[in-house]
This record gives sequence, structure tokens and C-alpha cells, in this order.
Amino acid sequence: MKAAAFAYARATSVANALELLAAHGDRAKVLSGGQSLMPAMNLRLVSPDIVVDIGGLHELGGFTLKKDILVIGALTRHVDLLRSGEVAVHAPLLRDAVAHVAHPAIRNRGTLGGSLAHADPASELPACAVTLDATIVVRSAGGERRIAAGEFFRGIYETALSSEELLVAVELPVAGEGSTFFFQEFARRHGDYAIAGLAARSVVKSGTFADLQLGFFAVGDRPLLAVAARRLINVSITPVTVAEAVAALTDELDPQEDQLASAAMRRHLAGVLLRRCVATLLSRPELDVGVAE
Ligand SMILES: Cc1cc2nc3c(=O)[nH]c(=O)nc-3n(C[C@H](O)[C@H](O)[C@H](O)COP(=O)(O)OP(=O)(O)OC[C@H]3O[C@@H](n4cnc5c(N)ncnc54)[C@H](O)[C@@H]3O)c2cc1C
Repeated sequence: MKAAAFAYARATSVANALELLAAHGDRAKVLSGGQSLMPAMNLRLVSPDIVVDIGGLHELGGFTLKKDILVIGALTRHVDLLRSGEVAVHAPLLRDAVAHVAHPAIRNRGTLGGSLAHADPASELPACAVTLDATIVVRSAGGERRIAAGEFFRGIYETALSSEELLVAVELPVAGEGSTFFFQEFARRHGDYAIAGLAARSVVKSGTFADLQLGFFAVGDRPLLAVAARRLINVSITPVTVAEAVAALTDELDPQEDQLASAAMRRHLAGVLLRRCVATLLSRPELDVGVAE
């Protein structure tokens, strides 16, 4: 199928893009890498009157380190995240995650801002943003707003962005001393959207978790920072504490059912990921085996 007819405007600056968005409101759609927007338009899931192409706005790309915050421009492409020395050092979780996003051709065009604005619950990068306590910076003709990632994702393909706002950057606290990370997902093939996935950040001291953030994805309508993780902080980790955390996680999740998996299977896979994550971060493979709950 082909997209319905639409007008096209190539923004010449951020200010120009914001003027166009203010003028057209929800009849306009922003085009970044086009890797989700164009398929959606071709399938006529969305039919904007006008597409505002921000792809040429170099001011929205790249990396800046401001003290202990890594600022990443919205137009930074997935391939740039993979290759960036700054990301490897300051946000290694993001680099690990991007390797699972689609395939090279899509990673060459898709952008960080596009992925977050698109808010597919099975996407890797929104889960990383929530796990890393990112701040999403958005701008409209009226000024700038800074939104905590945990508040940004509202539902399936739904965010706190209004139709007149542009996502301009993502701020990530740099990986603190002693931080360790885990990223894994179940997908039918490498590069497919996840059936269930987990992005995690931890601080381990003397064999226990001084901090643990577990950001699950593809198991609900948005990335979920699991409350169950709190059960594992500052306690001695045994097969029993892990089983209790898995049980608490299972209660917390409200996974969708689709052609890839039932809700029960997604709950099960999330528990498997939790076990693997804890075992890996503590370097204790015996915790991964687990016992039947
Ligand atoms: C075959 C295939 C497989 C894929 N597999 C995966 C996968 O496994 N994991 C995954 O995460 N993604 C996957 N994707 C999606 C891909 O990663 C996209 O790059 C990403 O979702 C959107 O980025 P984009 O820059 O292409 O955004 P676009 O397609 O340009 O835009 C996506 C949406 O976000 C809005 N938008 C874009 N940029 C902004 C902005 N700066 N401010 C406000 N709104 C904005 C657009 O208006 C649109 O609604 C896949 C895509 C394809 C085609």
C-alpha cells in the first residue's frame, strides 16, 4: 500500500520546525529517520496532512558531556550510538541495547529521538531511558520542557509529547563508579522486536545490591521499572529471595497477548530474565537455575 497524499516541508532550523508544528498541530508529523513513520503511513495507520522533515538539522545530532550528564541529540542515529566512544564509556547499557535494535539498514537511519517519540512498548531504547533515569528534553514555540523518562511514556505509542513539541535531546546521568549493566531480550530472531526484554543497572557492594534498576520491555503497554527490584536491594541474595522477587514481578506485570506470545509466556520470560540478570550481575550462575515457584 502507498501513503495517502501529504504535503512535505524540510525544516531549515529547529525554530522553523517548531513554527510548522505550531501552525499545523496534530495534522503534522515529524519525520526523523522515517523507519517507523513511513511504514505506518504506507499502511495508512497514520495519514498526516504534512510531514515536517527535521533530518537536516545537524544541531539536533551528536554528544555533549556536561559534568556528569551525557547529552545526546535527538537526531543521533542508532549506528552513531553503537560507534560512539562517549556512549561506550558513559552509557554502555545504551550501546548493548542498540545492537538488538532491528538490522544495520534500519540502524543507519533510525534515531534515538524517533525511537523514544514512537514509544513502541517492545523497543529497547525507551526501556534504557527509564532504567538510566534519563531526562527527555522537548521544545515547542513556547519554550522547553524537561520530562523524566518515567513520566514520558504513557502507553502504546503514547508519550507526554504534544503535537506542537519536538523531542530535541536526551540527558543521561553518566555511569557512576561501580555501576554494572545487563541487557538481554527474547526475540524470534536477532534484530526482531522483543517478545520480552530487560535493561538493568546495578551497583554491587560486597556481594549484595546497593542499587538495582530493572527496566522491562515488551511485557506491558510501556517500559516498566520493576518495583520488585527493591526486594533485592541490601539483602543477602539466595535462591529464596530471587524466587520471591520473581513472584512479586509476576504480580506486577500486565503483559499483552499477541501472535508472538501469550501473557503467561511473557510473565514467565520476564522471570527468567530477572534470574539471569541477578546471577550475571552478582557473577553467581547458580542463581539462574532457580526452582519452580
Ligand atoms: C523492519 C523494522 C524492524 C524494526 N525493529 C526494531 C526493533 O527491534 N527495535 C526498535 O526499537 N525499533 C525497531 N524498528 C524501528 C526503528 O528502530 C526506528 O528507527 C525507530 O522506531 C524510530 O526512529 P526514526 O528516527 O526512524 O523515527 P521516525 O520513523 O521518523 O518517527 C517515528 C515517530 O516518532 C515521531 N518523531 C520522530 N522524531 C521526533 C522528534 N524528534 N520529536 C517528536 N516526534 C518525533 C514521528 O512523528 C513518528 O510518529 C524497526 C523498524 C523496521 C522498519
